[in-house]
Amino acid sequence: MKELKENILAMEAYAAENNVPIIEKKSIVFIMKYIKEHNVESILEIGSAIGYSAILMASSSVKVQVTTIERDETRYMECLKNVKKCGMEKRINVVYQDALELNLSEELKYDLIFIDAAKGQYIKFFEKYKNFLKPGGVIITDNLKFHGYVGESSKLDKGNLKSLVEKIEGYVEFLKNNKEFDTTFKDIGDGLSISRWKE
Ligand code: SAH
Ligand code: MG
Repeated sequence: MKELKENILAMEAYAAENNVPIIEKKSIVFIMKYIKEHNVESILEIGSAIGYSAILMASSSVKVQVTTIERDETRYMECLKNVKKCGMEKRINVVYQDALELNLSEELKYDLIFIDAAKGQYIKFFEKYKNFLKPGGVIITDNLKFHGYVGESSKLDKGNLKSLVEKIEGYVEFLKNNKEFDTTFKDIGDGLSISRWKE
């Protein structure tokens, strides 16, 4: 087994070559620190891609268990391969399915849910998966700036990009107005939100 660091570098190279949108370094460093400081042990990730963020989250502490969901077959296979290479099969459970169709057992509860899948569906992911949080748990969401377009949708021409950006703007409003959760927004990487369940 190679060192974790080597595997991570190889994943970064693969992502760059194959246009896989893995999380920015600064953002994952923030999340790893959060995991340690808040003694997070159970994590659910929506959107594994090739396992980059799942592996780094799991590496934060030996106590961490991650379940991660991916609907794209090629990425799912690549993710499995990377989890094996890092010797993390026992700590990372990769699920090959569309997260909006998956029925997780209702008894499963997580300290942290990381939403990082289709950006236009964020409200749906949030509404579905908030039911799987432990009391006091958090939902962290990535890409809330979407390369700086969020907040600037009125300047974009009609099209897919504009409608996607409008959806992320809608998600930001949804979080701000959500009374069950306290959300803070972090201007780190491509923008993160940390929504703590007030229960
Ligand atoms: N979290 C990863 C990056 C994820 S990229 C990292 O930072 O390393 C987003 C991924 O979400 C893509 O691979 C895409 O296939 C997947 N995805 C998008 N919508 C999904 C859905 N509804 N269910 C499961 N996976 C989804
Ligand atoms: Mg992301």
